[in-house]
Amino acid sequence: MTLYTDRTVAPGERLKPPAELRPDNAGAAPTPPAQADVAVIGAGVIGLSIAWRLAGRGLSVAVFDRAEAGSGTSYAATGMLAAAAEHEPGGEELLALTLDSQRQWLDFRTSLEADANATIDYRDEGTLVVALGRDEVERLRFHHEQQRRAGLNTSWLNGMEVRRIEPGLRASVAAGISCPDDHQVDPRRVVPALASAFVRRGGFLIQGHPVTSLDMTGGRVSGVLTPTRLCRARTVIAATGAWSNDGVLPPTLDIPMRPLKGQALALRTNRQTGAPRHVIWTEQIHLAPKGDGQLIVGSTMEDAGFNPAITAGGVLALLEGVHRALPSSEEMEIEAVWSGFRPTTDDDAPIIGESGIPGLLLATGHHRNGILLAPVTATAIEQLIMDAATSGAASQFGLARFQRDSTTMAQIAGARR
Ligand SMILES: Cc1cc2nc3c(=O)[nH]c(=O)nc-3n(C[C@H](O)[C@H](O)[C@H](O)COP(=O)(O)OP(=O)(O)OC[C@H]3O[C@@H](n4cnc5c(N)ncnc54)[C@H](O)[C@@H]3O)c2cc1C
Repeated sequence: MTLYTDRTVAPGERLKPPAELRPDNAGAAPTPPAQADVAVIGAGVIGLSIAWRLAGRGLSVAVFDRAEAGSGTSYAATGMLAAAAEHEPGGEELLALTLDSQRQWLDFRTSLEADANATIDYRDEGTLVVALGRDEVERLRFHHEQQRRAGLNTSWLNGMEVRRIEPGLRASVAAGISCPDDHQVDPRRVVPALASAFVRRGGFLIQGHPVTSLDMTGGRVSGVLTPTRLCRARTVIAATGAWSNDGVLPPTLDIPMRPLKGQALALRTNRQTGAPRHVIWTEQIHLAPKGDGQLIVGSTMEDAGFNPAITAGGVLALLEGVHRALPSSEEMEIEAVWSGFRPTTDDDAPIIGESGIPGLLLATGHHRNGILLAPVTATAIEQLIMDAATSGAASQFGLARFQRDSTTMAQIAGARR
């Protein structure tokens, strides 16, 4: 006998990490310490990556989040590590940073999985960027030409070659670019793994504790204030994502950032529907198959302030996009629909490094690449704290670039979205 039960999808309900991995099971400290070497504001992928790295260097580190770790933007992310697929004209400086981080992900993953004793669903099948009709081929060729000029490891495929690799794609697929180094992870596993690895290294993860202001002593930041106590720290790191202009940081910092909303959904694949093996990008959407059989369909880009509403137009764009690419999606069950806010700066690149105020560092503004850029951000902040200087691509991404003249700004920003 078959039993039928009602099924409800609550719009806005995000995918959650598996219960056994939830950060509140990671042995979180119940009360904030009175003192630490470093206090990090924000337990997203960026704050936790930095904190885990610093705890591994023997520093005492306290991470504060006003809510649950990951519940800002990080759990909304798809988890693509897509340096090549993301590359756009004028984005050479950002490409150097994303490629550096993509390379660092290999060791980052190995250490993280070992430290957390957990897997993060790292998948290395690569990414296919496809043209779903003749009229899209020319634009795809242009994209490939940009990648080729930048020396990226990508290759051109005709429609038949694409379908040989991904037979579930619609027959109208006319061409594709293979990006074999653009891997993916599952943020619903990465964040809990970071929380757990950090706590295992002796870190304090204090969830449900907003930082209400910074403590200042003699012109330097000397700690963070929460409603219950002061935590003194030699260095404070703001990893507050889209909420970096919420009034905790001094107003003189004037961080040029806004939230950029994205709606996404998760479909359930099964033996009948099949599932793609690669991450697939079309002009409209991206599809990311996860190890547990979910297919993430993302994501809209909307300048809508902090309005989290799931809209008919947003869901329509996602469903139409997946239907154009993958006919079998008609039979896939919708498991979740959610929105999140990318922390987006005026040039779409992150702000990593000195704030200009002694004792305060910034690690924010990671826009649509925060998961990809977590390792390189952690390395840069670690270098700043341990060696007082950052080397490599990250040194170009300080707040100071926004204070340069507009010509230089335009060169850095290029023609990015
Ligand atoms: C739909 C969507 C898809 C995406 N897909 C990808 C992808 O495939 N690959 C990729 O690399 N990136 C992706 N991104 C971007 C990525 O999610 C972000 O860049 C990244 O999560 C930013 O991480 P974060 O740690 O800076 O911010 P968050 O995760 O938002 O963390 C900041 C934390 O700070 C806390 N906080 C803020 N103020 C305070 C305070 N005063 N006191 C205490 N805590 C505070 C918040 O509660 C929050 O938890 C996507 C984003 C969206 C919306």
